[in-house]
Amino acid sequence: MTDYPEIASPARTQAILNKYHLRAKKSLGQNFLIDLNILHKIIETAGLTKNDNVIEIGPGIGGLTEQLAKVSGKVLAFEIDENLLPVLADTLYQYDNVEIINEDILKANLPKIIDQKFSANQPVKVVGNLPYYITTPIVMNLLASNVSFESITVMMQKEVAERLTSKPNNKSYGSLSVIIQQSCDVEVSFIVPKTAFIPQPAVDSAIVKISKKNISGDQPFNSKRFAAFVRGCFMHRRKTLRNNLQGFFGKTADTKSIILQGLTDLAIKPEWRPEQLSVSQFISLTNKYHELGILR
Ligand code: SAM
Repeated sequence: MTDYPEIASPARTQAILNKYHLRAKKSLGQNFLIDLNILHKIIETAGLTKNDNVIEIGPGIGGLTEQLAKVSGKVLAFEIDENLLPVLADTLYQYDNVEIINEDILKANLPKIIDQKFSANQPVKVVGNLPYYITTPIVMNLLASNVSFESITVMMQKEVAERLTSKPNNKSYGSLSVIIQQSCDVEVSFIVPKTAFIPQPAVDSAIVKISKKNISGDQPFNSKRFAAFVRGCFMHRRKTLRNNLQGFFGKTADTKSIILQGLTDLAIKPEWRPEQLSVSQFISLTNKYHELGILR
């Protein structure tokens, strides 16, 4: 090991940016963490051990990657910006348990790569300071990827974190809250001020930890159809549930009467707004309309 200060220290980060004449690319959501206390808290939240395989999303210049490498078994880091490859090769040269993959995380075949790069039967955890312009697609893709991640610990805009964890009757409660909470436990672990980054983003951030729920109780008959149905219910959040359902299923006399029947069977009032329904009510309604033959 050399005596270099850690990559994420403000002085070293600035030195690396100067050495490589790097300018953070706004278009790729590049905001580099320069607060080691925050990094240590992220590591603690992720609960990593040397037995863990880690997928990192967006290593940047390697600040978080370095901390991940110290405490976990192997780190596979997906970075889209090829200009950062020589930088990472330099900053992380002493960590032989890190591999950088120059791919778009939204396009990568995660099950295949994980199978090739990690030894089987070891937990896979995802950690990352996400590029904010694609936070939601990244999280949704990870959950849809058929990889059973033990946990996902990621930094995102505070406002998106609030939407993911929001409960009924809140302004931030919407389709994203319902869809993710149907299958996962989601919690905001802590808030990160914008001063923890170079360059500073416009808004504060939050660390969110997501883990798959131990499924008990009712499940939607099909998770993709559930997601589409919930999005349909929230299409116009100021309108009533009945109006949104008619927008989703259509307005023929037949569908109108089935829509009403489903709501009545579950004691849900047609004039409620979508944000008044709990996650389990959305699941029941999905399955009810499937049973009544209009949701396939
Ligand atoms: N991990 C570093 C840190 O905490 O200082 C950098 C985090 S920065 C917020 C996000 C990183 O994600 C950038 O390095 C950016 O180039 C990378 N990135 C952006 N879009 C990406 C994509 N589609 N796939 C993989 N990496 C991406």
